[in-house]
Amino acid sequence: MLSIDTDVAIIGAGPAGLQAAIHAARRKVKTVVIGRPDQGALVKAEIENYFGIPRIKGQEIVRIGLEQARHAGAAIYEEDVLKAEKVGETFVLQTDHDNKFIAKAVVLALGISRMRLNAEGEKEFLGRGVSYCAACDANFFKGKRVAVVGNDSMAAVSTMLLTNVASDVYWVTKEPRIAPPLFEKVIATKAKVVEAAWPKKIHGDKTVTKIELDDGRVLEVDGVFIELGARGSTELAMELGILPDPNGLISVNGKMETEVPGVYAAGDVTGRPWQLARAVGQGCIAGTNAANLVLFGAGEPE
Ligand SMILES: Cc1cc2nc3c(=O)[nH]c(=O)nc-3n(C[C@H](O)[C@H](O)[C@H](O)COP(=O)(O)OP(=O)(O)OC[C@H]3O[C@@H](n4cnc5c(N)ncnc54)[C@H](O)[C@@H]3O)c2cc1C
Repeated sequence: MLSIDTDVAIIGAGPAGLQAAIHAARRKVKTVVIGRPDQGALVKAEIENYFGIPRIKGQEIVRIGLEQARHAGAAIYEEDVLKAEKVGETFVLQTDHDNKFIAKAVVLALGISRMRLNAEGEKEFLGRGVSYCAACDANFFKGKRVAVVGNDSMAAVSTMLLTNVASDVYWVTKEPRIAPPLFEKVIATKAKVVEAAWPKKIHGDKTVTKIELDDGRVLEVDGVFIELGARGSTELAMELGILPDPNGLISVNGKMETEVPGVYAAGDVTGRPWQLARAVGQGCIAGTNAANLVLFGAGEPE
């Protein structure tokens, strides 16, 4: 068991955490990142909407980010934080490797877990027709037939977005829970609304070919967009005295400060849009401000 004193501890080795680490470590404060890079959202992603990089595998961008963070001086611990507490002016983090980190500032870059449909075929066809992000993957379905599953505005907006690229778009909803003007907008598009139904099984061969609904209908589609929202990881935040919203998302101000002084948050865990560019931008702000807090105290410069 190690006991490691650090200035800034970043929990999460995704783009938000690694970008925070790059900015903190370059300010010459002792910086550690605790998290498993292979567990982040980007692992199965193919990115083509990130500034300056036309197309890159998510795994590759994380690999490069890890190298950059190490090169900047951050130490990476591929471990999970199981417990966090505030002890006086410091934060104590305990990991599944029985290691203890004592930090002056903490950045929570924990990501989110997308809500699953829990239908047969969902896991099997993930990345082979099943997607959880229309904004990310719509372009892979140009001229193809797709279904969007969900009841709220996220599903409605994704449906409208997909009508710009896909040949046929079905919105499968048990019961739409959106404002009437938004519903009017959806039905004004070419999308077909399939109400009072829910996917029972996603079928396919190499990729998705159709979905079977619980009322017996079958939709021939090449893609299924599951837009049911997401949950953040509430426990660590609550242990530190932060109250996340009912979806587990953490509120931050423009400096990425949470309600607990010394604790910052960045990336998907702070809310939508769940996109790489936002995670990286927030990581930069959180890492810079966490380092400034250590260097200059509460009177940190802008
Ligand atoms: C399939 C898919 C495709 C996507 N495509 C795109 C796209 O094309 N374009 C785009 O911009 N975005 C895309 N995204 C979204 C993008 O991946 C996320 O917005 C981005 O990864 C968020 O970064 P993050 O650092 O906040 O979270 P994540 O990347 O999820 O990283 C979170 C990190 O926190 C760690 N962690 C969590 N809990 C703990 C703990 N207790 N202890 C230690 N570590 C912990 C995790 O292991 C992980 O390392 C896609 C997402 C998915 C799932």
